[in-house]
Formats: sequence, structure tokens, C-alpha cells
Amino acid sequence: MSTDGVEVERPTRERAAIGEDGRSRDRSRPALPDPLPMSVVDAHCHLDIADGEDGNWLGAAEAIKLASSVGVTRIVQVGCDLPGALWAVEAAQQYPNLIAGVALHPNEAPRLQAAGELDNALAEIERLAKSSDKVRVIGETGLDYYRTGQDGQAAQHESFAAHIDLAKRLDKTLMIHDRDAHDDILAILDREGVPDRLVMHCFSGDTEFARECVNRGAFLSFAGVVTFKNAQSLRDALAVTPLDRVLVETDAPYLTPSPHRGQPNASYLIPHTVRKMAGVLNISVAELCGALSDNADRAFGGSW
Ligand SMILES: [Zn+2]
Ligand SMILES: [Zn+2]
Repeated sequence: MSTDGVEVERPTRERAAIGEDGRSRDRSRPALPDPLPMSVVDAHCHLDIADGEDGNWLGAAEAIKLASSVGVTRIVQVGCDLPGALWAVEAAQQYPNLIAGVALHPNEAPRLQAAGELDNALAEIERLAKSSDKVRVIGETGLDYYRTGQDGQAAQHESFAAHIDLAKRLDKTLMIHDRDAHDDILAILDREGVPDRLVMHCFSGDTEFARECVNRGAFLSFAGVVTFKNAQSLRDALAVTPLDRVLVETDAPYLTPSPHRGQPNASYLIPHTVRKMAGVLNISVAELCGALSDNADRAFGGSW
């Protein structure tokens, strides 16, 4: 299967200030887009991750307020490590329009295993997942072969399988991060058994992989990458995805949609992505917004 030739997210807290080209980013704040005609959900966001030398560029309260002002009224806040997971749980308790995802990012798994800390960290993720009804998601977990050699992959497989098991036992939505690892994602899902609710975050495959995921019951979540000039194969994948399986996300502060590539991302910029997606799907923006909102309710186990 083809792999993604386009930009995908940076994996750690510290790297977001540097663009894909290795140069520092334009720090200016992108303008507010025109509001959406109906409200939508940002299905994957990192409100806690600093995007620059001076910390979180917007702050959670401001990011949520700006998002609501353009119709992005609900957000899935995703923690990628233990501090991030704890942050997500507390933020979801504080803000009614957030739900939380907790997991160890695949890029965390090899480091934790090498330190002999993977089992304890997984136990802590389970404790956090049980600590609040607002934790609806186990994720982002999965596989990331972009920076991980053969030696780190075994740790990722073990961690991914443990997260699948956790999602099933706790009846949470499994949210998958997949970078350059499509075939192994499917193989491990099939071996471990697919949970009731499954989201492919920042979907990055082609039409064939989209069909494979849909056949397993997955929702495909599209990020700002779908607006990039060089992402035609991703738009083709969106075009074959049933409307009742499509989600939209920012993965903010990463993956800023056109026309603001290079500037930091935030949930309030999702209208650019939604309008592009409506064009690809050849439906009205309002119809897509309605589907995105309904789909999020089903993908994440009900409204919030
Ligand atoms: Zn990810
Ligand atoms: Zn992410």
C-alpha cells in the first residue's frame, strides 16, 4: 500500500516550533475564518502542547473560546504521555466542551520499554482512563515507523496491543496514530480484535487503505493535510469514505491547513479544512457539518 508523502504531525512537545523544513515557524496568529453554518467537533487536538519558545501560543481557554466563535463547539483533547494524559483528564473535567483521550504515543513506547517503565506507565494510563467519565478515548496509540527502526517496533507493537485491550475492557473509543505502518496496524488490529469504536486519527492512507479501515468499522479523521496541494491521494481516499464515517480534526498545534501552513494551528482554523472536504465530497458545507457532528457522537460514545 502506498505511504503518505505528506507532512504529518511532530511527535513530541518540544519540536513544534520547528517546521518540516527545519526552520522556525511564522509565529503570527492566523486570522479567524468565516464561521461554519453548523457546529462541528475537532476530533483530535493537543491544547497542552507548546508551539514555540514561549509556551502554549494560545492557552486552552482562549483556544476553546475562539473555536466556539466559528462553530467548533466541541473538542477531543488527546494526551500523548503520562503528564499529557493527566492534563487531558483535568482539562476535560474543567471544560464542558472537552472530552479526553489518554495513551502512550507510539514514539513513547520504545523509550519507556528501554527504561523498564512501560508496564507501570500502561497501568497509570488505565488508572487515568477509569478516573473520569469524560475520558472517552484510549489514544493516541498505534505505530509510527517514521523515526523508529526495527528495534523500537517490538515495543510499539506491545504497547499498541495493550491499548487495544484497554479500550475493549473499558468500552472506550480506540484512537489510532498510524505513520508509515498501515499494514501492521491492520495486522495487529485483526490479531487483537477490533474494539466497538475505532478512529483512524490524521488518516494518511490511499483509497484501498480507507476501504480496509471502513470495513473494520473505523471512522476516518481528516486533518489539515487534506488541504495541502500535494495531498491528492488523501483527497481521493476521502472521496471513497462513506459520509457517515468521516471526522475532521486539527491535531493542533501541528498540521495547519492552507492557507496558513507554517503558522501555528488551533481548533478555530478547522473551517478551512471542512470547506475543502465539502468540495471533495461534493456536498454543501452545512450537510458536511451535520454529518461530522453526528459521526462524532457515534465515534465517541454519545454526545457531550
Ligand atoms: Zn498522531
Ligand atoms: Zn496527535
